[in-house]
Order: sequence, then C-alpha cells, then structure tokens
Amino acid sequence: MKKRIAVLGATGSIGRNALDVVREGRDNFEPVLFSANSRAAELFALAAEFPGAKIAVSGQPAAAADTDGIDGKRVYQGRDGLLAAIRDCGAELTLNGISGAAGLEPSLAALESGSALALANKESIVMAGALVLETARKRSLPVIPVDSEHSAVFNLLRAREEDALDEVLITASGGPFRTWSAEALEKARPGDALAHPTWKMGAKITIDSASMANKGLEVIEAARLFSLDADRIKVVVHPQSVVHSMVRMKDGAVYAQLSSPDMRLPIHQALYYGETAPSPWGRLDFDDLSLTFERPDTERFPMLALAYGALRAGGHYPVAYNAANEYAVSAFLGGKIAFTGISAVCAAVLEADWSGGAEDLQAIVEADHKARRAAEALLSNGQY
Ligand code: NAD
Ligand code: MG
Repeated sequence: MKKRIAVLGATGSIGRNALDVVREGRDNFEPVLFSANSRAAELFALAAEFPGAKIAVSGQPAAAADTDGIDGKRVYQGRDGLLAAIRDCGAELTLNGISGAAGLEPSLAALESGSALALANKESIVMAGALVLETARKRSLPVIPVDSEHSAVFNLLRAREEDALDEVLITASGGPFRTWSAEALEKARPGDALAHPTWKMGAKITIDSASMANKGLEVIEAARLFSLDADRIKVVVHPQSVVHSMVRMKDGAVYAQLSSPDMRLPIHQALYYGETAPSPWGRLDFDDLSLTFERPDTERFPMLALAYGALRAGGHYPVAYNAANEYAVSAFLGGKIAFTGISAVCAAVLEADWSGGAEDLQAIVEADHKARRAAEALLSNGQY
C-alpha cells in the first residue's frame, strides 16, 4: 500500500527536496496534495506528474485562466482554501515545508484531520509547541521533526531510555558570518548573508542562519519537542555541518548523528517513519574528513542569547521573538535596515511584557500580530 502524503510548501527548498525523495521512492508514496503560496504553474506541473494530487495556492490568487486548473481539477485558493485542502485530501502523513508563522494553522489542520505531521516548519513548534504536541497526542499521531538537528536528536533518543538523557547538543554551522568582525557585520548586505557555506535553503532561514536566529529558534524548538529546559540545551558551532546534533547521557557518553549535509536524508527518514528504508542521501565519506567544534559567540550574534532569554521567560516571549525576527528579516532583505538592526529590533520588541500568554491559537496569533506591529512601529521611527 502506498502512503498518502501531502507536501505543503512544495515549491520551496524543503518541498523540492521532498519531491526528490518521493520520486526516488515512487512506488511507496501517493501524493494527495501539493501547496504553495504562489507559482501556480509549478503546482500544475506537479499535478500533471501525480494525477491523484489536489493543489492549493494560498497566497496571491492564481491567474483567472488558472483557476479551473488542469483537467478541470479544482484549485484550492487562499488561506482558507489551503486549510480545506488539508482537511479534504486524506493524507496519512503531511510534510509541512511552509516558511514562517503561516505554517502554524496548516500544522494544526493536518493533525486535526488525522494525519501524522513531518515538520520542517519550526515556527509551528516555537509559537505553539504545547498546542501542536497536545493536538497530536490526543489523536495518537506522531510529530516527526525534519529540521536536521531535531531529526538527529529524535532518532538518537528513540534508541535510548528517556530518563538517561543529560543534555542535548545542537550543532550550528555558524553561517556565512562566523568569522566576521562586529564592524564588518554592521555593513553586511543581503547578498553576503544569503551565501550560506554548507546548506542551500530558502531566503528567510538563510538570513536566520547568518544571524544565528535560526539556532535560537531551534533551541526553543528542541525545548518543546523534547520537553527540556533551557539549561539542558547547548549550541555547538560546527562549520562542516556533518554532525547534525548530539545527545549527552547521564553516564557521560555522547552520541552523534552524522551524514553529509543533505536535507533529503531527514525528509526521507520522516516520510518513511516507522521503518529504516535504504536511501542514496547524505552518504558520508570519511576519507580526509576533518571535523571542528567551537563555542558560539553570543556578543556578535545576539539572536542566540535573545532566544534563550525568550525561552526562559516563557509566555508569549517565543512568539514575539519569532514574529519580530520575521518582520526584521524582511526589512533587511528589502534594504530598509542594517543586518545588525535585526537583533536590535528583536531586542527592543522583547523589552515589552509578553508574559502570561494563553496557549490557545487565537491568543498566539494575536501576540504574533502585536509583535509585528511593535517591530513596524520601531522601524517607522527610523532608528535602525
Ligand atoms: P522556502 O522559502 O524555500 O519555501 C517556502 C514554501 O512555503 C514555498 O513553497 C512557499 O510558496 C510556501 N509559503 C510561503 N509563505 C506561505 C504562506 N504565507 N502560506 C502558505 N505557503 C507559504 O523555505 P524553506 O527553506 O523550504 O523552509 C521552509 C520551512 O522549513 C521553514 O520553516 C524553515 O525554517 C524550515 N527548514 C528549512 C530547511 C531547508 O533546508 N530549507 C532546513 C530546516 C528547516
Ligand atoms: Mg536546522
């Protein structure tokens, strides 16, 4: 029996990597839904390749000529259309490769309609970890991390006794600015930040890797996914991106997961959840392999320290951290603020009181909007 899968964010970096995995294992998967924010033509091409799949274009409306789709296939449109498509498609497993806060409701909709969730969209967990995991638990559905570090930890921990864990060591490439001085960082342009040394990813997460906000989000993601407090999650800079994360056990032993950097391996592991299926992805050659490790520099990269602060403060601080960062990153990409302005804006937004927030979807979405408005107000003052 083929596994029915939905691929959300099918035109993105995660989505395209997922399609490689699906094509490689064509006999094992039946795609039932592809979604994207725009670029309807790419979805129509996928629907022609996989005729059983529904398509959803959630952002700008598809061109009038497109709305009939191909072969009379209905195109689900808008945010509500995407949520309806997730509910209608009958997926057994949904891969969420949407970028940003927009991925939260689709994650919940997938679980509510009885689908397992393979989660690349870390924002779902950062914003609403308790809600997402509780929704899954109530239905006995797995949430399978796709983020390479969390996939590594997930697989390392599955083989071990839960209470034997001491701490999780999340690796970080350090991004393109690992060796840049604080002065040089002030002048960094989008093109510099988009040149990631080891991973090819979408623009938002690539900027986050340069500022280390990505690692900050991942620390919060790990805390929620693995029920750990901030003191039990450490970040280790490892420029080669070969060790994807490690777990230190109470007896002192450290276990690591290694592969060459290729997102298709954690995607493969998530799509084949429940079995160890052979794969061609990420095979590591040990000839002449050198691995190095360093301590992260939270002075040059304040986004990491801000994430720990938000995690410790709890409430809606992680929601505000994520939203302010999303807003600031798009301002940086639009040439409106300096690279160092990203962390300055986030620090200023996090000065407000985000404590005591409820864990329901509406309160979380409101906090997200409020943090974006706060970031917008700071930028309109022209301070950054
Ligand atoms: P991307 O920008 O390449 O692709 C994003 C996809 O989401 C596109 O298909 C786009 O059409 C869709 N999308 C964007 N905004 C949307 C919206 N408002 N509503 C619905 N769909 C929308 O991003 P990416 O690099 O593939 O990253 C996707 C997610 O996976 C992010 O949460 C990122 O942090 C996470 N992630 C990515 C990688 C990677 O290697 N790219 C690794 C780990 C985790
Ligand atoms: Mg990652």
